[in-house]
Amino acid sequence: MEVYDKYETVIGLEVHVQLDTVSKAFCGDSTTFGAEPNTHVSSISLGHPGTLPKLNERQIEFAVRLGLALNCEISPVSYFDRKNYFYADLPKGYQITQDRLPICIGGYLPIWVDGKEKKVRIHHIHMEEDAGKSMHDDASPYSFIDLNRAGVPLLEVVTEPDLRSAEEVDAFMSGMRQLVQYLEVCDGNMEQGSMRCDCNVSVRLHGAEKYGERCEIKNLNSMRYAKRAIAYEVKRQIDLLEAGGSVEQQTLNFDPGTGITSPLRDKEDAHDYRYFPEPDLPPVVVSEEYVADVQANLATLPWVMLERLKTEFGLSDYDADILYGNKEVAQYFLDFTKVNQNYKACANLIINKINPYCQEHQLSIAAFPVAQKVLAQFIELIDSGKVASAMAYQRILPVMIEHPEKAPLAIAEELNLIQSTDTNFLEDLVNEVIAAHPDKVKAYQKGKKGLLGFFMGEVMKKSKGKAEPKSTNQLLRHKLEA
Ligand code: ADP
Ligand code: MG
Repeated sequence: MEVYDKYETVIGLEVHVQLDTVSKAFCGDSTTFGAEPNTHVSSISLGHPGTLPKLNERQIEFAVRLGLALNCEISPVSYFDRKNYFYADLPKGYQITQDRLPICIGGYLPIWVDGKEKKVRIHHIHMEEDAGKSMHDDASPYSFIDLNRAGVPLLEVVTEPDLRSAEEVDAFMSGMRQLVQYLEVCDGNMEQGSMRCDCNVSVRLHGAEKYGERCEIKNLNSMRYAKRAIAYEVKRQIDLLEAGGSVEQQTLNFDPGTGITSPLRDKEDAHDYRYFPEPDLPPVVVSEEYVADVQANLATLPWVMLERLKTEFGLSDYDADILYGNKEVAQYFLDFTKVNQNYKACANLIINKINPYCQEHQLSIAAFPVAQKVLAQFIELIDSGKVASAMAYQRILPVMIEHPEKAPLAIAEELNLIQSTDTNFLEDLVNEVIAAHPDKVKAYQKGKKGLLGFFMGEVMKKSKGKAEPKSTNQLLRHKLEA
């Protein structure tokens, strides 16, 4: 057995979710991403003496939404506190956060790894504000500070140390991203920094009761980096222990360039943040009526949607998995089923054509050029047997995208693609084919029933794809067995 197999990995996460509010947590400055640096900074964001923060009600509503979705207890009263430290991207010299009593307590997020459900417990969720952003450009002797982000509202979701592998961390982060998108509290975009996580990693021998000493890897902003950072850190800790050493509690930085974690600071000489109650903000009071109201207006949760797609619409695991992955796509499917009840065909059309088209053209699915009413007619055209499915997909759909106002049936007629169920037309073709292959007809009649496929193919060829398969099949069998 490899020494690494003797150990179990233990991970707890602190996930920062940047909220999609219009304005900042404690003032009216805009939160829009990508603006010219230092243009969304009023004297309140800068914390000038004499300025006063005020609560953004949306931050509280978003916290309650996420808390309810994660089965947390919502605190009827919670408090803001000041966390004091000095850094260039923190103009006030303190961050407003919740230390004593956060807004959401307990709860869990269900994740699925290898088809098995696991409930990852949440310790709590607290509200806080983001700091500014510092940029260090190697080519310049200066560091740059953009304070647009200073004061943008965040939720910090802190898990219990329930995760046991990088795969579980991946599943948790994907689940969180999807959930915040469904709840419309955050766009979930890790690349733009809307979601970031700190990973607390420790190892212990399998079967050990006590957790090992942990290290915290700060600010991982992509799952790819997180996986590499965890793998590196687990190996580093096991190597240390196996060599007779011990793991020291540390805060680490992960460098994606080298793939290595290195200490930011020791907890021993960690800052004393001198938390104290934020004197300029009142306690946050959330009434039962308010919570009930948020609950009543809560979006369908992703895992509920997944179940619905499978049970109510009979979709396969594969199809359901793709459709529920994106809330807009799931909603598009639900709307589609109102105008066409061939659910499997609706799902296929979305998965194979509409989704890829929208991705290629960077459109949201709602902006697909052809209306659902018209797409429904397209599916009916195939289901009625008027046009062969392959023909419809290859030839009609592209024209529909070019000319969204045209009816699929009219396009099929123009392109001469309507299949014939006209018995005279079919009968002539069938007779010709039978007359041309007397040996095969004999073989068929002696029991080589598999030849039916051959005859079908011949009739199709002669009809140039316009023979409707079901009627042709019936007619052929009738003639051959006569
Ligand atoms: P602190 O207050 O020092 O930040 P917490 O106890 O609040 O520490 O834990 C912070 C995070 O660290 C949580 O996500 C928790 O799950 C995780 N954590 C705690 N102990 C361990 C451990 N031994 N191994 C891995 N993660 C841990
Ligand atoms: Mg912490």
